Amino acid sequence: MSARDKYETVIGLEVHVQLNTASKAFCSDSTLFGAEANTQVSPISLGHPGTLPVVNEEQIAKAVKLGLALGCEINPHSSFDRKNYFYADLPKGYQITQDRSPICIGGALKIKIDEAFKSIRIHHIHMEEDAGKSIHDTDGAYSLIDLNRAGVPLLEIVSEPDLRSAEEVDAFMSGMRQLVRWLDVSDGNMEQGSMRCDVNVSIRLKGEEEFGTRCEIKNVNSMRYARRAIAYEVGRQVDIIEKGGSIEQQTLNFDPDTGTTTPLRDKEDAHDYRYFPEPDMPPIRLSDGYIQAVKDGMVRLPWELYEDFTEKLGLSDYDASLLTEEVEVAKYFLGLQHLSQQTKASANLIINKILPYCKDKQLALFDFPVASENLVEFLDIIRTGKVSNAMAYQRIFPEMTEQPDRSPLEIAKDLNLLQSSDTSFLEELIEGILADNPDKVKVYRNGKKGLLGFFMGELMKKSKGKADPKVANKLLREKLEA
Ligand code: ADP
Ligand code: MG
Repeated sequence: MSARDKYETVIGLEVHVQLNTASKAFCSDSTLFGAEANTQVSPISLGHPGTLPVVNEEQIAKAVKLGLALGCEINPHSSFDRKNYFYADLPKGYQITQDRSPICIGGALKIKIDEAFKSIRIHHIHMEEDAGKSIHDTDGAYSLIDLNRAGVPLLEIVSEPDLRSAEEVDAFMSGMRQLVRWLDVSDGNMEQGSMRCDVNVSIRLKGEEEFGTRCEIKNVNSMRYARRAIAYEVGRQVDIIEKGGSIEQQTLNFDPDTGTTTPLRDKEDAHDYRYFPEPDMPPIRLSDGYIQAVKDGMVRLPWELYEDFTEKLGLSDYDASLLTEEVEVAKYFLGLQHLSQQTKASANLIINKILPYCKDKQLALFDFPVASENLVEFLDIIRTGKVSNAMAYQRIFPEMTEQPDRSPLEIAKDLNLLQSSDTSFLEELIEGILADNPDKVKVYRNGKKGLLGFFMGELMKKSKGKADPKVANKLLREKLEA
């Protein structure tokens, strides 16, 4: 047993989610990503004296939506505070945040680890604004500052220290990303920085109740980095404790190039943020009626649909997971399933054909060109045996995407793919096949029934895939057993 196995890892996350509101948290600057540096700023986001912040209602609605989805208590009286610090990308010299009284309290997110569900408790969710961006490595002599992001609304979701491994962190972040996208609260895009997290890590001997001292790894912006940072940090802490030392509470930075964590700042110069109530913002009062209205406007949640799909519709875990990954996909599936009255076939068509097609062409699902009536007809001609499943998927589907207005049945006729259940035509082919393979016929008749597959294959080849498998199978058996 290695030293590491004696310890249990304990992790709590502070997840920052950038809201996808059109304008910033306290002024009307655009939040669009990718604009030329410093073009989306105004006296308010630049913190000019005499300007006043005004709360963005969309930010509140989105915070409440996420809180309701996570089963948080929505605070009817939350308020803003100032968190003061100096940095070049923080033009006001303070960040407006919620310190004393956050908007959402409690709640939990369920994650799935090896087929089992585990509930990760949320401590609270608070609203705040983002800082600008410092770019340190493009100019030798200077740091560049882009203030487009200064004042963009964020939610910070603070978990309880309920996570026990990098896998659980991964599941939590993926679940959170799925949820914020589902609720249209954020695009959840880690590459663009719309979602990042601070990872608090400590270790304790297995069986021990008390938590160890934690270190906080700041601003982890990819799941791959999170895994590496946690692995390194756990190793570092185990080494210190095994050598008889003790962990110092620190804020760390993870360097992806070296794969190590290094102190960002230690206790000596730990920030005193001098929090105090934001004097320019009134407290936020949310009535029961308001909270109810947000609730009424919410779509069903991914795990609710997952349960419906597996339990009521009988779909597999795999299908249900894929179809509830994104809200658009779930809606699309429900639409097609309703129109076609075919559950599994609709799921298969979407998962195996439509989604890969859209991904390949970089299309949103709702821009998939084939109208739903044609998709229903496509599923129908398979169900009624007019064309084989294989031919429909391989030949008709691609044709439909080329000519979205044409009926799949017409396409099947044109491509000469209508299946034959015309027995005399099939019988004739079967006679020919048996005559060509006298040895195999003998072996079959001596009891090697597995050869039926070979004869079916031949028949499909000779009929160019048009033999209706059920009829063909029955006829073949009759002839072979005659
Ligand atoms: P602070 O207010 O000083 O930031 P919190 O108690 O709010 O500290 O915790 C911040 C984050 O650290 C939370 O996500 C919490 O779950 C996590 N955390 C707290 N204690 C530990 C610990 N011993 N090990 C790992 N994570 C911890
Ligand atoms: Mg903290």
